[in-house]
Amino acid sequence: TEACLGAIDAAGALNAFVHNTPDAARSMAAAADARLAAGDAPAMCGIPVGIKDLFCTEGVPAQAASRILEGFRPQYESTVTRNLWDAGAVMLGKLNMDEFAMGSSNETSVYGPVVNPWRVNADLTAGGSSGGSAAAVAADLCLGATGTDTGGSIRQPAAFTGIVGLKPTYGRVSRWGVIAFASSLDQAGPMTKTVRDAAIMLGAMASVDAMDSTSVDVPVPDFEAALTGDIRGKRIGIPREYRMEGMPEAIDALWHDGAAMLRDAGAEIVDISLPHTKYALPAYYVIAPAEASSNLARYDGVRYGRRAALDAGDGVTEMYEKTRAEGFGPEVQRRIMIGTYVLSAGFYDAYYNRARRVRALIKRDFDLAFADGIDAILTPATPSAAFGLGTMADADPVAMYLNDVFTVTVNLAGLPGISVPAGLDANGLPLGLQLIGRPFQEGALLNTAMVVE
Ligand code: GLN
Repeated sequence: TEACLGAIDAAGALNAFVHNTPDAARSMAAAADARLAAGDAPAMCGIPVGIKDLFCTEGVPAQAASRILEGFRPQYESTVTRNLWDAGAVMLGKLNMDEFAMGSSNETSVYGPVVNPWRVNADLTAGGSSGGSAAAVAADLCLGATGTDTGGSIRQPAAFTGIVGLKPTYGRVSRWGVIAFASSLDQAGPMTKTVRDAAIMLGAMASVDAMDSTSVDVPVPDFEAALTGDIRGKRIGIPREYRMEGMPEAIDALWHDGAAMLRDAGAEIVDISLPHTKYALPAYYVIAPAEASSNLARYDGVRYGRRAALDAGDGVTEMYEKTRAEGFGPEVQRRIMIGTYVLSAGFYDAYYNRARRVRALIKRDFDLAFADGIDAILTPATPSAAFGLGTMADADPVAMYLNDVFTVTVNLAGLPGISVPAGLDANGLPLGLQLIGRPFQEGALLNTAMVVE
């Protein structure tokens, strides 16, 4: 814990931590020492972790990297962080992210962008939205971090920083106390240096929770015990629709090498088709903003955080308008406008309902592959390595959205997906491979991921 607190102080240039809690860290570490001495050491006893700013932790600012939540200090603890503390983990502080987790480069944050520790002077993105979590783990500022993943926000930053990021099956980890972006897609998960650490941390984070009506009542197994390294006879699908035109050669080579490693370990590599893949991105960018516009309606200047200064004679409408205009950044405002548009009476069927039907077809593609005996699906995690800060953000929002092309299908289908560091590109930047598993089979997924790690 002391080493991490020192490293955090020395790594201010990364802009990964946005709020440090050294006093809490020291008292939690002392409590962990006492438990160790008493021979009562739970799974993460004394392990220092960072928490994405999207999680509510009692008494500690939670802003979702947004101006509108300035001054908000939750009075309660998210189930995930409560579980982590019960498992003995130590809280170092809160981590930077894209505003309300909307983004792929951490550039929509009110705190400014995170710098990728692989190229501190070259101003590369650490990815997003969990950019602070990824950078903090990659730079050894903490031993693990929480992330959340609505369309790739755990897996893409993990790939860009050479770490492991796991999005669990929808319903595996409680969303209680996690500030909502798109409730039918959001899922929290671990970001760690190794697959084994991800298994341990997922075990600590996951639980059945009466406070989250979408929490699924399945037992939380010992994920670490599943890490036997034996994948003989497993069938790994290579979906042809993920082979994109103009994909960098390094990504193609990485994919090829990953498949070879799995084959060498005794798995069978099978070409498969997921025919509705090409509709995933448009469906996601209708459904996610629709849910976001509904979730973000609660930031009204009354109940949470910041209210804009008002002029004499301003009424409640002016208060809403001024508060929301000042409090939300441009990307969040864009999502709210898209979301309210696709949900509006005249367009609901044409956009939102159609996107929901497409979503069902995308899920069915995966169901059919699994019914065919496929155990896991191997794809690249991202269509490129980390890009330069400022190169995508202002140019064209759609160019940024295209970055999520390999990751959003997993959220639409509610499946577990993991990004594993699998090699470097010609410039020496890390690249990730994605493995997609069967629902609630995170143990088997982690075991397969260990082979390509
Ligand atoms: N980049 C995607 C978006 O901007 C995904 C974000 C996420 O997973 N939270 O919506």
